[in-house]
Amino acid sequence: MSVSSIPVRGEVLAPGQAGYDEARRIWKGVDRRPSRIVRCADTSDLRSLVDYAARRQLPLAIAGAGHDIAARSMPDDAIVASTAALTRVEIDTERRLAVVAPGAQWGQLAAAAARYGLATTGASVATVGVAGFALHGGLGWLMRGFGPACDNLRELEVITADGMLRRVSGDSEPDLYWAMRGAGSNFGAVTALTLQLYPISRVTAGMMLYPGDVAPAVLDAYRTITAAAGDELVTHFYYNGSPDGTHSTGIGLCYTGDPADLAAILAPLAPLGRPVHDSVRDMGVGELQAVHDSSTPRGARYHLRAHYLPDLDDSVCATVLDRCRTVTAPFTQVFVEHMGGAVARQPLADSAFAGRHAGYSFLVINGWDTPAEDADRIAWTRGFGDAVRPHAAHGAYVNYLDYDEDHRIPGAFGAGYPRLRALKRRYDPDNMFRFNRNIPPEDDHAAH
Ligand SMILES: Cc1cc2nc3c(=O)[nH]c(=O)nc-3n(C[C@H](O)[C@H](O)[C@H](O)COP(=O)(O)OP(=O)(O)OC[C@H]3O[C@@H](n4cnc5c(N)ncnc54)[C@H](O)[C@@H]3O)c2cc1C
Repeated sequence: MSVSSIPVRGEVLAPGQAGYDEARRIWKGVDRRPSRIVRCADTSDLRSLVDYAARRQLPLAIAGAGHDIAARSMPDDAIVASTAALTRVEIDTERRLAVVAPGAQWGQLAAAAARYGLATTGASVATVGVAGFALHGGLGWLMRGFGPACDNLRELEVITADGMLRRVSGDSEPDLYWAMRGAGSNFGAVTALTLQLYPISRVTAGMMLYPGDVAPAVLDAYRTITAAAGDELVTHFYYNGSPDGTHSTGIGLCYTGDPADLAAILAPLAPLGRPVHDSVRDMGVGELQAVHDSSTPRGARYHLRAHYLPDLDDSVCATVLDRCRTVTAPFTQVFVEHMGGAVARQPLADSAFAGRHAGYSFLVINGWDTPAEDADRIAWTRGFGDAVRPHAAHGAYVNYLDYDEDHRIPGAFGAGYPRLRALKRRYDPDNMFRFNRNIPPEDDHAAH
């Protein structure tokens, strides 16, 4: 493949060329070497690349903000279409919509919407890409009030494997609209996403942290708080290890109700005394995405495990706490996120997102610096996941599956998986869009 033969306006980077190493750097500290990285200058570059790859049957990956936790958007040997430069966000204040280019990050969307007193469900970290987040679910601070991000996708522009640019919404291409909201990256290259916004300008949010050894009391209080929580309260239990070896635990929260009510809601934490760190305060909604920004540094080595939990009974709490005590890596974080509310209310059949049944979502992110630690750290993470598994609900959140969990992909798409395979056969029979939690096209036998 000669660099000049790829028909795009943007820069085409080959191994060894200036800029190539910077362009292949993503959130996860992996050493991937694509055959080419194309910095798309506009969405017509993306269309040209789909056409180019389809004609030659070449593997094509789409990389947005590069926060895939399995690093699938930056594969070895494939052509990578990078949308990182395409970050435009337009706000339609009348219809309360955001029209977002494919490389935009959550912080950019949040800031643009906040200027007009608007917001929608977003990721906990500003640099996460809107596309990868919203196309596969999107669990965030406002989800109990407004659903996961995929529920707020009103329209998408998608280039499918046949080269067609399609406008996908409830009225146009309803099958694709169903599939794109939960399994999006399997069906095409998205060139624009339109998301519903809501009139929220200020929230009360932040973290309350305590020393690690009071984690049992914090988790117990968290259970009580979440059992009584209304839709305006989104919380997670949190435990983390840090580079200096200290452990801390606490609760992260975002409250859209009357701030005067919050003290009573958080009363179960009162017996613990003053937190060692308390960042809970009234803030502009555009600041929400920064609450966790510094805790998972870009370029570190990571391994993750996640499960949906039906509830938080004594046995799952004891299991999580036992494993938390064994944290030794410097960037380890354990989350138990409260789901339910609007996430659970949308009918399961309305979209391909299959995570509506869970009471909570468990996630451990284990992070460290040196390759020499890989084997032990990965074994520890797997052990944590295995210990929680007997307490888990069925399925898994697609975005939280790591590279060694392909066997969990069908379960993650749940009851919709056969329909997704049939649609994959219709829209991407050669599985061009495969650098994701991949859904193989339904085979001939099954189709007849
Ligand atoms: C630090 C951190 C914090 C996170 N916080 C949250 C959180 O709060 N809630 C949550 O639900 N998830 C969270 N996640 C998970 C995150 O939502 C997913 O990893 C998401 O896929 C990242 O999207 P991206 O665009 O940044 O990633 P990328 O690596 O660029 O892409 C992810 C996947 O989407 C595909 N893709 C990207 N752009 C397009 C496009 N235009 N068209 C088609 N396919 C495309 C890629 O090919 C790849 O398969 C977090 C991840 C990290 C690393």
